Amino acid sequence: MGRSDSTAQARLRSNNRMGVIIPHNKATAELETVEMPLPSQIILPMQMHIGAQCVPLVKRKDHVDVGQLVGHAEARTTADIFSPVSGTVKELRTIYYSNGRNDVAIVIEPDGEQTVAETVKPPVITDYASLVAAIKASGLVGLGGAGYPTGLKMDTDLSSVDCWLVNGAECEPYLSSDYREMVERPQDLIDGIKLCLDLSGVPRSLICIEDNKPKAIELLRKMAADDPRIQVLELPARYPQGASRVILKNAMGRAVPRGGHLTDVGAILFNCTTMGEIARYVRTGMPLIQRRITVMGDAIANPQNLMVYVGTPTGEILDFCGLSCEPAKVISGGPMMGATQVDMDYPVMRQQSGLLAFSEAMCAVHETTACIHCDKCISSCPMRLSPVNIQKAYRKGDVAELDRLMADLCVGCGICSYVCPAKQPLTQSVGLAGKLLKAEKRKAKGRG
Ligand code: SF4
Ligand code: SF4
Repeated sequence: MGRSDSTAQARLRSNNRMGVIIPHNKATAELETVEMPLPSQIILPMQMHIGAQCVPLVKRKDHVDVGQLVGHAEARTTADIFSPVSGTVKELRTIYYSNGRNDVAIVIEPDGEQTVAETVKPPVITDYASLVAAIKASGLVGLGGAGYPTGLKMDTDLSSVDCWLVNGAECEPYLSSDYREMVERPQDLIDGIKLCLDLSGVPRSLICIEDNKPKAIELLRKMAADDPRIQVLELPARYPQGASRVILKNAMGRAVPRGGHLTDVGAILFNCTTMGEIARYVRTGMPLIQRRITVMGDAIANPQNLMVYVGTPTGEILDFCGLSCEPAKVISGGPMMGATQVDMDYPVMRQQSGLLAFSEAMCAVHETTACIHCDKCISSCPMRLSPVNIQKAYRKGDVAELDRLMADLCVGCGICSYVCPAKQPLTQSVGLAGKLLKAEKRKAKGRG
């Protein structure tokens, strides 16, 4: 489909049907965000983003202020870390990520004063380069879950980009934090888009929202009515509508070539909360110190959207919301793509949009049985992959076959495991297969 054709076809509603329908369970969607008080401690791991770990710039007993730089790395792909509170550094300790890796974390005891660092002041923005430099200095990362450094994503040639996509799909069940952002702080979102369009020269923006959020669609259409560059596009509520390649295809009919980026086909994509945060940072100079998370699941007594300080320990959030039973599983993020947490000290990360806790009954372990060749995993995969065959090739260590099956294109959405009647661990297998394939390709490149 040509680019101009697809744009005309998309207009205000796309009927593209990639993905599957799953229960939304968004019972917190109409609850106003509640601000959680300062926790007893803030824990800041030195990797709260995709990319290189930061190096702690503070030591035990140091005083820190709100917005003070406390973790920095020289690497290109990284994002500086700032203190969300004023207080005293209690210790530098080891913390374990959910993938088993460990890292250094700065533990801060808040003093309750919330004194702001002198360095916090609005950046001077004169052109797109100064906006990119400011966003890099802010440490902002993609707030929809990816955690990729925002300034780095903006630091690219946008001359052939004709649309700035804004992701307000929020397709993960249970989560409603992006929805609350759109209905509670819509002006920040619109301001962020206008700023990026004005300075980058990208001619237009599409705010993409699933049709199960009619209030957000109506509100943002009203607010963008005075700027013909900005349109709100209604998308069918199908999972994983928010995955970057899926939303691009569904919104604009464009496909990213293997190994390529969205900018190769004329688009750039930002999460809606990230876009609002750009406007807030430019206005105030305050790095991201708080974020909204949806706290839900049948083990939570009072499900809600909470505004929490980045680095707040999981256990303190569960205490604040109350438990209706002992949770058998705690997940940071959504149920489809989130990660199980075992350490209740594990803190809220910058890119985390949910915290879920489920009872034993909700976490029943299903026995894996033999594949019945039903093809459901293949027909449901939004990337048109063949999870069952990728799993087979991975188990044999057949890298050439993994390459032929394009295992590296998996977006980790979890649908294949969700639909599989044999309860095969397909998502995990395909994820590992993709990593193996990428590693082998890197090795081969090094040899060549
Ligand atoms: S193979 Fe990857 S992209 Fe396809 S359904 Fe499974 S997890 Fe999703
Ligand atoms: S969905 Fe499960 S049972 Fe069906 S083909 Fe795929 S792996 Fe086999």
